[in-house]
Amino acid sequence: MREVLTAKSAGFCFGVRKAVETVYREAEENRESVCTYGPIIHNEEVVKDLERRGIRVLHGKEELEQVQGGTVIIRSHGVGKEIYELCEAKQLRIVDATCPFVSKIHRIVQEENGKGRRVLIVGNPNHPEVEGIRGWGRADTEVLDSEEMVETLHLEEDVPLSIVAQTTYNLVKFEKIVDKISNLGYDIACFNTICNATKERQTEAAKIAASVDGMIVIGGQSSSNTRKLVEICRGVCEHTYFVQTAEDISSEVLKPFRRIGITAGASTPKHIIEEVQTIVRAEF
Ligand code: SF4
Repeated sequence: MREVLTAKSAGFCFGVRKAVETVYREAEENRESVCTYGPIIHNEEVVKDLERRGIRVLHGKEELEQVQGGTVIIRSHGVGKEIYELCEAKQLRIVDATCPFVSKIHRIVQEENGKGRRVLIVGNPNHPEVEGIRGWGRADTEVLDSEEMVETLHLEEDVPLSIVAQTTYNLVKFEKIVDKISNLGYDIACFNTICNATKERQTEAAKIAASVDGMIVIGGQSSSNTRKLVEICRGVCEHTYFVQTAEDISSEVLKPFRRIGITAGASTPKHIIEEVQTIVRAEF
């Protein structure tokens, strides 16, 4: 009989769960014109379901400028200060589902700037969370995504630096970048703001993948944390499969495996994980 091991950390993290629940609650209350600033999660199925319930997705500031009244929901990634200001200027109702771990970074950025320190963000400059964090900093706030970028940084000797990280950033990469800046001899305050949820999910996925003969990772194609899980699992389990839903699973492919592991990215709803479990368990 086949054994199926599902990671306890599979699926929504605390921040994503809170954001998704918030949007469904707003949809139920049936308010007029409810929008989310960006898709609430990287999962097409959930976004389409919400659209059917009347929740519209705004793709950036230009679309927000066109909104005439109603509610705007801020997703777990958070946004910069100017988006709050724009909503207030347009007298829109704001429902803030920013993850508290992200809000904490926004606070750190403001406090550090308030002390006269320049903020450096270690993260992917194109990620919405990083764009949001940057939106709370001074104009000289910079984003670094590699050790090489440290070499091209223009730093002033008398300006102390404070460093924060994107919540889902790789810890080893973060430490290398911080080391490189430290070696330049500046006054540095370092805030490791990497969220534990990501680390726990990755550690558990690697552990399960190393103990099974087939591994399934469930998540959206555009979810970077799911792709990272696939990469980690492939490193220890050659037969790792990346699926979006149960429909992507081929029973033929899984047939030879006696022990199968399952994990899922932070945007994967529980029911999709359960459907995959059912299919995998049914195949003998
Ligand atoms: S990964 Fe961490 S910081 Fe990001 S939404 Fe989830 S709990 Fe919040």
